[in-house]
Amino acid sequence: MKKYQTKKRFGQHFLNDAAVIQKIINEINPLETDQMVEIGPGLGALSFPLLRRLKQLHVVEIDRDIIARLEKKNDPRLIIHEQDALDFNFAELVNDDKIRVVGNLPYNISTPLIFHLLESSRIIQDMHFMLQNEVVKRITAQPGSKTYGRLSVMVQYHCQTEYLFFVGSGSFSPPPKVDSAIVRLTPWKQAPFKAENKSRFSGLVSTAFSMRRKTLRNNLKKMLTAAQIESLGIDPGLRAEMLKVEDFVRLSNLLS
Ligand code: SAH
Repeated sequence: MKKYQTKKRFGQHFLNDAAVIQKIINEINPLETDQMVEIGPGLGALSFPLLRRLKQLHVVEIDRDIIARLEKKNDPRLIIHEQDALDFNFAELVNDDKIRVVGNLPYNISTPLIFHLLESSRIIQDMHFMLQNEVVKRITAQPGSKTYGRLSVMVQYHCQTEYLFFVGSGSFSPPPKVDSAIVRLTPWKQAPFKAENKSRFSGLVSTAFSMRRKTLRNNLKKMLTAAQIESLGIDPGLRAEMLKVEDFVRLSNLLS
């Protein structure tokens, strides 16, 4: 078969490092009966090693040329969904079971895709993603750190997050301009905090971080008074980056 010509617009950087692939599979630890779905299988760098451990694997891929290659493999255990993952309804894959999601994601859509998946977090057992290293740092950041922001709070509201390991750009073909890392997201089984209104919560988080160097009192001026913030035992003179996820939840629950 002719060598595949990768496409920039689909963020195609194929893994070609056997040691990294093995490390990812070990972290995922697939069990035969897992309902697993891979986003962006490409030529199958992860898909076929996963299939050695699974009964079947769903893959969601947007590129027709790639799909044609995967179909030629003639593996009935590979269930191909030709679709944009941003529109894919993950909940349709299972009835009562939960799905496990994996993917070496195209970096240009990784944030919207994670937000799309968080909407289905109740049917997801866990997610393992290869992302830009900086994005993994932001997702897993703790209060008080420079990288802690809206993405950290929104993901950690839904999931437990773990930075698993760093992957240098030399592990891909063609190599991307930035380094990568593997992250594990595990949706909370018992939510540790509950926002009464999700869109209000998300609006409050965005507003609180809108100007990173400003205090809560300033950024939240149009939503809450300093006295309201203080009534929760939160100092209105702090910057948003000092607050725990729970604090944002409590603030948003004041808005009604
Ligand atoms: N998992 C493979 C390929 C990673 S490259 C590997 O590790 O080698 C990213 C893959 O995501 C490509 O196959 C690309 O075609 C696919 N992709 C890009 N945008 C997509 C989208 N919106 N929905 C589904 N797949 C997408």
